[in-house]
Amino acid sequence: MIDNKNRNQEEAKSIQVAEESRELDWKSKSFMASMFMGDLDMGLAFPFPIQSEDDRKEGDAIIEKFDAWAKDNLDGDAIDKAQEIPPHVWKGIADLGLFGIKIPKEYGGLGLSQTNYVRILGAVARYCGSTAATLSAHQSIGVPQPLKLFGTEEQKKKWLPRIAKGELSAFALTEPGAGSDPASMVTEAVKQEDGSWVINGEKLWCTNGTLADLYVVMARTTSADGRKGITAFVVEGRSEGLEVVHRCRFLGIRAIENGLIRFRNVRVPAENVILGEGKGLKLALTTLNDGRLGIPAVAAFVSKDVLDFSASWAKCRVQWGKSVGDHEAGAQKLADIAGLTYAMETLALYGAALSDKHNVDIRMEAATAKMWNSERSWEVADTAFQLRGGRGFETDRSVDGRCEVGFPMERVLRDTRINRIVEGTTDIMHLFIAREALDGHLRNAGGLFKKGATLLDKLKVIGKCALIYPKWYIGNIFGSIFDKFIDFDDPFISHLNWIESKTRKLALTLFHQMLLKGPKLEMRQLILARIVDIGAELAVMALTVSRIQTEERVGSCFKGSPNRAIVEHFLLSRRKVVDRLFEDIWSNTDESASNVAKAVMGRVTEFPSPERAELPAIDRKFCSDYTVRHDSA
Ligand SMILES: Cc1cc2nc3c(=O)[nH]c(=O)nc-3n(C[C@H](O)[C@H](O)[C@H](O)COP(=O)(O)OP(=O)(O)OC[C@H]3O[C@@H](n4cnc5c(N)ncnc54)[C@H](O)[C@@H]3O)c2cc1C
Repeated sequence: MIDNKNRNQEEAKSIQVAEESRELDWKSKSFMASMFMGDLDMGLAFPFPIQSEDDRKEGDAIIEKFDAWAKDNLDGDAIDKAQEIPPHVWKGIADLGLFGIKIPKEYGGLGLSQTNYVRILGAVARYCGSTAATLSAHQSIGVPQPLKLFGTEEQKKKWLPRIAKGELSAFALTEPGAGSDPASMVTEAVKQEDGSWVINGEKLWCTNGTLADLYVVMARTTSADGRKGITAFVVEGRSEGLEVVHRCRFLGIRAIENGLIRFRNVRVPAENVILGEGKGLKLALTTLNDGRLGIPAVAAFVSKDVLDFSASWAKCRVQWGKSVGDHEAGAQKLADIAGLTYAMETLALYGAALSDKHNVDIRMEAATAKMWNSERSWEVADTAFQLRGGRGFETDRSVDGRCEVGFPMERVLRDTRINRIVEGTTDIMHLFIAREALDGHLRNAGGLFKKGATLLDKLKVIGKCALIYPKWYIGNIFGSIFDKFIDFDDPFISHLNWIESKTRKLALTLFHQMLLKGPKLEMRQLILARIVDIGAELAVMALTVSRIQTEERVGSCFKGSPNRAIVEHFLLSRRKVVDRLFEDIWSNTDESASNVAKAVMGRVTEFPSPERAELPAIDRKFCSDYTVRHDSA
């Protein structure tokens, strides 16, 4: 679609692989995608989806049971210090059913909604980031989710009950040479005459991988007619030739069972392919739509704890004759933490509610929630850290040991950082969202840039655009003669009208950039990132307005409640962010940064070749050794 002539072949291949794995059709109109076309459709956001009473009760019951158990059993600090999740925790979370939160009841799971799933993950994260990351890797991207979405009935019956009982799963995509770019993957699966497959390769940073009973493994395959692709396999942890060669250790979430996994002639039966040969990357991307909703929830729920503690701290800590929260600098920090936390929770709940509707296209909303919440929760953690002064840098135990009230600020900071990297780094999320944001225009005008398009083809595209764009363009310049949102007697309406006008400006800016830069826009990552960030900010702002108005109507929040002031502060401060992003599109240092980076890279020599002696396999255990009695398995 876009001329890759001047690109090197590797980059073009990676882009092609990503493009081929995209979902082409939109299942439904997307709130976020529409915003990039200038359409703020509040019908898709208002009333804000509030969890139904029955569903909430079901989630509450599990969270209550979990809390009762966790109080005495889930010590996040001890787990962080030991860098191990102890056996009683594995058994405890399995006994509570947390290995199968979303697995349907007919397969032995709890059969809970996505909203309850993210609420439970958030509840776990408040005690222990490592345990939450373990459960999230297991259920957001591990075996249960792709099986639920794409598994055959036979596959579901075979594996889901085992998982629900406490067998742990892992998702193995990343390799030493293939991080953000799956096209660089070298792990290969070769089909045998009897239809089975043999896998060879190495998978890096596989969360749960050192203890997993089951893996989803992505491997290169070549079909009978010579077509290359990536295929997803369910692989048994006890397979011969599957080896753990290194347990990776990290800055945060230090107890996760993450490792370098080697596949040496691992034989996998034909029936272990999920979705079909060559469809692995599509499966991974679709799985991630729901999967990406775990991180935003963890980010929001942990930030709520940070907010509560920061508020107490800001009130109780007196310096220079005042509470630190009464000094202007402290007040600003606390207000920002409060606003961002409310907004993060809003985005996480919105994404989960959309997912619970099923058949709604949530790719943009989920990706935005992952990107925005992971970035903002890092800001929240860093701001709260600063507000806490020296005690932020001191460990919780050490503060406790001096008989002061402790809070694991430094652990939160360490645990939070990874969310900006896993499940798509922020840079990659910018590119992903930008591609989807451009989709509307590419559908209309993409033919102009198509390789091999004839003059006639191009004239047809121009004819089509001539019918669409004049009306669209004028509509986005002028909008409605009257403010679009006038029917609510509410001060937040002026914010909605501001958001609506900036949404049209966003669409026009994107359009102008496409006209100015043509296909080269694809290479202007920072321009695209700003456009994506503006869209994300505007969407979050609109959703917070929708949520507070809805809460007021259903009575879970009242006029005059602190949430009103929090949302008002949030909206005013994000207006400034949006304005700055618009300015930076036209006035920035992107070019000088590229030149400097080239110069700096030109001064250094390349790393030596990464060849290394083959690492020996290490002794391993399986999660089911802790969670499932084998005689009952
Ligand atoms: C704790 C932890 C747990 C993990 N769990 C799993 C797991 O369970 N399963 C699994 O398969 N993987 C897992 N990963 C891997 C994780 O998903 C990758 O780290 C992530 O995809 C990024 O890949 P990378 O680290 O190789 O970075 P790279 O791809 O090497 O990127 C390095 C930097 O370059 C940027 N970059 C890369 N490409 C582009 C581009 N085209 N444009 C602009 N910028 C770019 C990135 O944003 C990043 O800043 C885990 C990693 C960690 C650290």
